[in-house]
Amino acid sequence: MKSNPPSSRTGQEHILLTMSFGSALAILPFAVTRLFNHDWFVGLIDSMMIVGMLMIGSYVAWSRDVRNAGLMLSIVSLGGMCAVVYIKGITLIYWAYPTMVGMYFVISPRLAMIFCLVASLILVPVLVSAMELVQSIAVIMTLIVNNLFAYIFANRMHKQSEELASLVLTDPLTNIGNRRAFNEKINDVMAIVKRSQNSMSVIVVDVDFFKQINDNYGHAAGDRVLIKLVSTISLRIRETDSCYRIGGEEFLVLATNANIEGAKNIADDLRKEIETSSWIENKTITASFGVAELMENETANAWIERADKALYKAKKNGRNRVCLAESS
Ligand code: GH3
Ligand code: MG
Ligand code: MG
Repeated sequence: MKSNPPSSRTGQEHILLTMSFGSALAILPFAVTRLFNHDWFVGLIDSMMIVGMLMIGSYVAWSRDVRNAGLMLSIVSLGGMCAVVYIKGITLIYWAYPTMVGMYFVISPRLAMIFCLVASLILVPVLVSAMELVQSIAVIMTLIVNNLFAYIFANRMHKQSEELASLVLTDPLTNIGNRRAFNEKINDVMAIVKRSQNSMSVIVVDVDFFKQINDNYGHAAGDRVLIKLVSTISLRIRETDSCYRIGGEEFLVLATNANIEGAKNIADDLRKEIETSSWIENKTITASFGVAELMENETANAWIERADKALYKAKKNGRNRVCLAESS
């Protein structure tokens, strides 16, 4: 079984890269013109914004930390926009609209709303001093409406993408993570284990002669067995452990802080519980287990492959047993 290679850039990284490098490029002609016209102060602000945007873009490209990059991008964009409106005057207020909408792409809708309202408040004095009251109220109201629409839209998108992500990563029958969820999780887990130096084991579980269960008792009975099996596993493992359905009747448990003996204990307990369960009347259901502890400098693929080999051994040696993986 293969885990994912380090994944390619996410949609959010693309948005941040485009917005930061794109903004730097868009501000460049203004900076050049202003410096050319000896408008030193605004030219300096424009130049600082360009440098800031280039730094944020490079930071995302290097670290992939979209959360902090989004925050920095919002602060630089809104701060720069307010500064330019204050210095160059109210005629530049139209930049406030796209800048504010852009914030809903890079940070959470709620935070974007707060940042944009603060920026709007900062702009109030310059509006009131430069315009008639009715006009400045109109600008403030349109800024608020602009933000409200952006918020509603971004919030809806945010919720939909969360729901979609959960659908894509969840097995609909058992409600646990699927193979894709495991592939996503394994890279994080490897990084955490490397940092913490704690032991970590994997247990691969495969129901014995499951095809016969389906054939003799029906597919629905087979489904019920899978659901019962998952609740048995979930009750036995710790909160920090996780269980994934990686195949039809094949499951994988990531046991945190568990060396090979600890993981073997979990597998032994599960094996006994499954064997003594009465999920189908007058039918003994059994499962086989392969257990492997992560070794130093081992890749995720090599680790899971060892557990798979141990499972294969358990099947070959008569099923309904736990086999430990060889060291390598
Ligand atoms: P072994 O002991 O060697 O593991 O034999 P097995 O019969 O368990 O393994 P095999 O791979 O031959 O069969 C697995 C069966 O699992 C075949 C497939 O129809 C069934 N299966 C896969 N997904 C589901 C599911 O979601 N529900 C049910 N009921 N059956 C499923
Ligand atoms: Mg099987
Ligand atoms: Mg199988």
